[in-house]
Amino acid sequence: MKAIIKNDRGFGVKIEDVDTPELKQDEVLVKVSAASICGSDLHMYEGMDAYSWVDTPVILGHEFTGEVVEVNNSGHEYLMNKRVVINPYIPCGECNNCQKGNTNLCDHGQGAMDKVAAKSLRYGFREDGGMAEYAAVYYKNVLELPDNITDEVAGMLEALGIGVRGLERADILPGNTAVVIGPGPIGLSMVASLSNYGLDKLIVTGLRKDQKRLELALELGATDVVYADEQDPIELVRVLTNEEGVDNVFETSGFHQSLVDGVRMCSKGAELLLIGIAPEDTTLSSNEIVRGEITVKGVYGVTEKTMKRTISMAASGKYPYNKLVSHMFKFEDAVEGFQAGLNKEAVKVILKPE
Ligand SMILES: [Zn+2]
Ligand SMILES: [Zn+2]
Repeated sequence: MKAIIKNDRGFGVKIEDVDTPELKQDEVLVKVSAASICGSDLHMYEGMDAYSWVDTPVILGHEFTGEVVEVNNSGHEYLMNKRVVINPYIPCGECNNCQKGNTNLCDHGQGAMDKVAAKSLRYGFREDGGMAEYAAVYYKNVLELPDNITDEVAGMLEALGIGVRGLERADILPGNTAVVIGPGPIGLSMVASLSNYGLDKLIVTGLRKDQKRLELALELGATDVVYADEQDPIELVRVLTNEEGVDNVFETSGFHQSLVDGVRMCSKGAELLLIGIAPEDTTLSSNEIVRGEITVKGVYGVTEKTMKRTISMAASGKYPYNKLVSHMFKFEDAVEGFQAGLNKEAVKVILKPE
């Protein structure tokens, strides 16, 4: 079968012919219909600096969908011929965080105080993923899909889930005002998920080079966009909110100045949710956080519950997720797909076997 493989720690990926995976105990074989390229895949494509923990060689792809075509154990036949989306996390189920339902924070194999890449993140990182014609997946990691979710939307459902995790973490109500910083795939998926939330203002900030993505943000339901390299984003938020500031800031860019600005865009008592991973530690004004009683929250990964919630949202047809698909390529043209992803005009790049 054709597979997109990260063989070593250098630049690029290889498209190779490899054996179809053999099923281990409790695994099912998924015939992949779509996989999407995530920001982390792009980082791995460029080289492995921030991904030293990934087990190469590995078939990439943690956002993917397909049909179950083989099961290995009696008792799992109910999954045969089902359309499914894959949850890439295999949490231990036993640690303190798993017990609390926060399986995205599973401590298995690492210290409870080590805030590093979750060991439970498996497919496409530590085990072969879904950028291949077939993938072997633990039966509990396939979630059934309703028919009305297209392959393209299903293929990026885990990425949509990150935005939905942001909503789960947020203290947000209809009538609130919000800013999404960064119109990348996660930022725009947040905009799509917030589009039907009854917000009074949904402001998206980016740069002039993000113009196409900011235009898409308006199409998705943003009320205003800000070009932060041409306009003072804090001043603009002030004007747009009658000097009030906003109730919720979702920071998806990971840039130092955006985090600092995020605190300043908040009204007193508001919250700043950090979703983008900053390459280096950054410094925020603790005085402003204290005197404004600003709540700063981290948002990381997805739980099975988040994935199921995202499936329901996609199936409802009320969220314009399909508009996030900007490019589609066959597996054999995957390199073009990765290059399109590196070029900031692409939002979500979907790869398909044929
Ligand atoms: Zn992803
Ligand atoms: Zn655990």
